[in-house]
Amino acid sequence: MQDKLTLMIPGPTPVPESVLTALGRHPIGHRSSEFQEIIKKTSSQLKWLHQTTNDVLTITGSGTAAMEAGIINTLSKGDKVICGDNGKFGQRWVKVAKAYGLNVQVVKAEWGKALNPNEIKEILEKDTEKEIKAVIFTHSETSTGVLNDLETISKHIRAHKQALSIVDCVTSLGACDVPMDKWNLDVIASGSQKGYMIPPGLSFVAMSERAWTAQKTSNLPKFYLDLSPYQKTIKNDSSPFTPSVNLYFALEKSLDMMQKESLNSIFERHKRHKKAIQAAMKAIKMPLFAEEENSSPAITAIAPTNIDAEVIRKHIKEKYDILLAGGQDHLKGKVFRIGHLGFVNDRDIITVISAIEATLHSMGITNSPIGSGINAASDILS
Ligand SMILES: *Cc1c(COP(=O)(O)O)cnc(C)c1O
Repeated sequence: MQDKLTLMIPGPTPVPESVLTALGRHPIGHRSSEFQEIIKKTSSQLKWLHQTTNDVLTITGSGTAAMEAGIINTLSKGDKVICGDNGKFGQRWVKVAKAYGLNVQVVKAEWGKALNPNEIKEILEKDTEKEIKAVIFTHSETSTGVLNDLETISKHIRAHKQALSIVDCVTSLGACDVPMDKWNLDVIASGSQKGYMIPPGLSFVAMSERAWTAQKTSNLPKFYLDLSPYQKTIKNDSSPFTPSVNLYFALEKSLDMMQKESLNSIFERHKRHKKAIQAAMKAIKMPLFAEEENSSPAITAIAPTNIDAEVIRKHIKEKYDILLAGGQDHLKGKVFRIGHLGFVNDRDIITVISAIEATLHSMGITNSPIGSGINAASDILS
């Protein structure tokens, strides 16, 4: 049904009504005092979200822009870096690092499993010459629904003393705890179309003092993504280029909503939704793709047996107007993914589980009694 489609993909995520309304305003001058007020307010709200005293810089671009900015502003030609690769996004950071001529050592984990923090620890400990300049990895690996152990990996990085952490927090920020200062994180990147509950187009990068020190000597080529003009202008509540003014209107509204809800409630809500989906899928014998102990609060991948996951996904879209994500690369047809990130409530969770159950029953590919998934989920939701 037209206009009724519910997004349950890991970005773009659903946008609240008040945010949509804010987007529909006439743009204002990006050098006006009214706009400066918005930059000032959102800057402090972004620090709250990142749990940091560092500036959080906003770039008009998708999440990849923020991550690329973090890499090219802190590193220099030929620098040795470790890249964690346990999914599609991990792979992307390997590609970016190689594109800039960095000397990349890849640490892999099978898709569906978390990176092993001890493997990273050992590599860092062996590096007595302190040649490793950064460890680049993804916190919540959206392609598989795995949450890497950011806190532990960050501890190992700090123990090395030289290497910086450069972390893709695109589907973890605003879904689970990412306390930048407490965990001593150096570079965090994120994007507006995920936990921020606004459309795609803005990305965010925050850097620690250590990262800014590295920035002073970094010699990788950059212009639009050179963060020093962003850092300079944010001091005057301004930006180097014309930002997406209307997305800032949206950002202000969504951050207001998040502050009203509080970080802890947001994290609890995501955890509850994840657990409800996991319980429901177990009850109807639909295998979870990611290890449960390392599962992302933002996305759950399901690996149905004996049927193409795309068939289930298409049916749910056509019949129930819910868009789920498919599997990427070798997981195409093997998994479908439920996004439960951002503007998601208990009703959405109940609805998607019902749609999955009804679909499996209509296809005759389950022998669990109908309602058993909902039953398991409602225990957790109530
Ligand atoms: C969505 C996403 C990104 C950003 O992708 P863009 O298309 O550049 O916004 C990066 N990392 C992860 C883990 C994501 O889920």
